[in-house]
Amino acid sequence: MNTITILIFALVTLSIFLYVFILNGTWPKSSNFTLDFNKIRELADASKDELPTHINHLIIATGELPSWGVVAGDFGNNYPIEFPSFQLVYQDKTAIIEVPFNNKLFNKFPYGKSFSQDAYEMMQKALLQAEFIIPTHEHWDHLGGIAQSDNIQKLLPKLVLTEKQKNGPTIKDAEFPEHSLDRFQAISYEKYYRVAPGLVLIDAPGHSEGHQLIFIKLQNGQEILFTGDILWVTSNLKKQKARPLIANMKRHENRKLISHQMKWIYDEFYSNKDQKILMLTTHDPDQHMEYKEKGILHSEFQLTNDSQH
Ligand SMILES: [Zn+2]
Repeated sequence: MNTITILIFALVTLSIFLYVFILNGTWPKSSNFTLDFNKIRELADASKDELPTHINHLIIATGELPSWGVVAGDFGNNYPIEFPSFQLVYQDKTAIIEVPFNNKLFNKFPYGKSFSQDAYEMMQKALLQAEFIIPTHEHWDHLGGIAQSDNIQKLLPKLVLTEKQKNGPTIKDAEFPEHSLDRFQAISYEKYYRVAPGLVLIDAPGHSEGHQLIFIKLQNGQEILFTGDILWVTSNLKKQKARPLIANMKRHENRKLISHQMKWIYDEFYSNKDQKILMLTTHDPDQHMEYKEKGILHSEFQLTNDSQH
């Protein structure tokens, strides 16, 4: 082979590599992911008094992801992300959705920007007062604040964790103390699971083996669907592009499942202007800001004055 042939061969190989691993964000033409909202509503149903009144939002940490790792083929500015916790407030109880990592684990995250110790401590107090604690999935930025909590023994009985989450390969990054989950009673369910009035879990593996969506119905009738980490930011919808394969591989994601879920979100929420259910991604600061302005998310967590806590 002469030099030119070698060069051409190298260029072609490099182009294929770039396309397959970095640039290709094509998602399916039609999605095979579906949800039965009639069934979900049936499960969530309760008398008005029993439903949650509102959702509080607390930012524990922030970060910035390289654009090309979030939206395939996007070489624009980095995407700001946040690591929030959500407090679902009922008349007589609270539930916490998402429990981001502590400062120790956050410092291992390569794209971190800021960490609020005050917010983390507020979340820890709210966890002690909560009746249920529910992560969308088993990753450290959704569960690490339990694994790392000084009060882990008090929190575990309230933790709603599925068998798939408990046994998934990525829960290890949350660094639960050794043997702390040995006797933990995980739940397992087929497709839908009612935790409490107005609060239903939906099995949606892809981003992780135990990834799930969380459907909420509030007293005022507003319905919200937490879509966890199917999307980190809604820019994938605007650009109609999935994450690059290299990002899927790094996180042990099932590219096929998550691409169908992204396309489903696009059809169901982004291009369907009649959709009244609000889709909430865990990490998108712009979306959370918009929901705060609309009064859908509220600032800070509420604590009761119970001296026991
Ligand atoms: Zn996450």
